[in-house]
Amino acid sequence: MKNLIVVLYVLFAVSCSKKEKVDTIVINANIYTVNSNFDNAEAFAIKEGKIVAVGNSLEIQARYSPTFINDAKGKTVVPGFIDAHCHFYGLGLQQQKVDLSGTVSFDEVVQRIVDFQKEKNVSYITGRGWDQNDWEIKKFPTKNKLDELFPNTPVAVRRVDGHALLANQAAIDLAGVTVNTPEVGGFILKENGKLTGILIAGPMSLISSRIPPPSKTEQIQALKDAEKICFNLGLSTVDDAGLSKQTIELIDSLQQIGELKMRIYAMVSVSNENIDYYSKKGIIKTDRLNVRSFKAYADGALGSRGAVLKMPYSDKHNHFGALVTPLNDLRKFAEKIAASDYQMNTHAIGDSANYVMLKTYKDVLKGKSDSRWRIEHAQVIDQEDFKYFDNILPSVQPTHATSDMYWAEDRVGAERMKGAYAFKDLLNTYGKVALGTDFPVEKVSPFLTFYAAVARKDLNNYPENGFQMENALTREEALKGMTIWAAYSNFEENEKGSIEVGKMADFVVLDKKYYDH
Ligand SMILES: [Zn+2]
Repeated sequence: MKNLIVVLYVLFAVSCSKKEKVDTIVINANIYTVNSNFDNAEAFAIKEGKIVAVGNSLEIQARYSPTFINDAKGKTVVPGFIDAHCHFYGLGLQQQKVDLSGTVSFDEVVQRIVDFQKEKNVSYITGRGWDQNDWEIKKFPTKNKLDELFPNTPVAVRRVDGHALLANQAAIDLAGVTVNTPEVGGFILKENGKLTGILIAGPMSLISSRIPPPSKTEQIQALKDAEKICFNLGLSTVDDAGLSKQTIELIDSLQQIGELKMRIYAMVSVSNENIDYYSKKGIIKTDRLNVRSFKAYADGALGSRGAVLKMPYSDKHNHFGALVTPLNDLRKFAEKIAASDYQMNTHAIGDSANYVMLKTYKDVLKGKSDSRWRIEHAQVIDQEDFKYFDNILPSVQPTHATSDMYWAEDRVGAERMKGAYAFKDLLNTYGKVALGTDFPVEKVSPFLTFYAAVARKDLNNYPENGFQMENALTREEALKGMTIWAAYSNFEENEKGSIEVGKMADFVVLDKKYYDH
């Protein structure tokens, strides 16, 4: 037996000597390469983090001597997913807050706060999501129990809509609120001449303005927590839609020392100061970080009627929504960015906000080729304005369609709905569409994006025949939207987004077939 092993080892060594050494080969996989022909393959070889060959299992095994063999046993392999619009750091910060959504009683709220603090031990407990209308006793809660449990740790937790807040005495003391504090733009509830702990609207800022910003340790923890969640769901690149200079520098420093591995396309929050700083510095590009875009906001959201429409809202008389950045400022930002190497990515939801941004982009970009400036969300588009997307890149979030479909028509009416969540029309105009989620506004999972893009249904199979199916994407288009087209929207299509020779070895092994029905 010993001899046999020796002989086999020798044979193995001899045969290996003619093969090229690589780190890993993946074999027996059902690979969607997402190359320009959308070819399938069986195997590929990886060396120093890059794909060095793609082919069938026999050929890859014959040519390469790997340190590791990953036998996919017939499983589906796709390129690592890219979320073209999300709030990665925001997702991480959210992990440091108590999630109180779906609580069925105030006791459950208290229990979740206790459990959270046992695990996280933060110096100031914040959270969101309680809703007394979901409880048996549909009354605003009071702070008494929180005072007993947390006499020295401030607690401030918001209602699900964000417009009411429950604070304990420690938080109230820190804010200096008393029964005599004037109630400006809202209410400070009292019972028998004492504060109940509930603050509504305006006065909430008295409490929230005293919540300390996250410490450096908490910031680092947030980034690591977000990375863990995203890696588990197959994301290998995230486009963070709006980061400060300080957070970008923290990300870079953590990536440099190997503490953060996620690849991040960091959109810089737009301001004159940031444009001056980054346009002078130029594009920042490492294997894991790409800083070459600014994120601006044109309008608000459709749900809260903050999106700007050309004609009034269908469900609010004479209401058009409002720009959150003055048009003059948006124009000046665009002019400055057009004069730099950077890309401009602007949040635009309503048809009017989209129109003014598309026109502004076109005006300032005149003659500049391959700028890839993006409209983020591109949610409600006037039929007349689709044509402007011929060279402006749409970055859309399919789960927004299936989250909003219940009430969107109330806001804009049947006619304007034809140009709403019109992903296929946008794709047909530009030739590509970058897909994302906007997490943590929506869930993180790219699989929900695929489902919303292709089936256009919620998870309860509603509506039975899909929502505005003329704007559904095919499976192939949805996969491209979260891989190669998202990479293109980041100027990274030559380094990622497909399983091809020379690209980064970012890939996902799925436990289900992508084309299963
Ligand atoms: Zn966003």
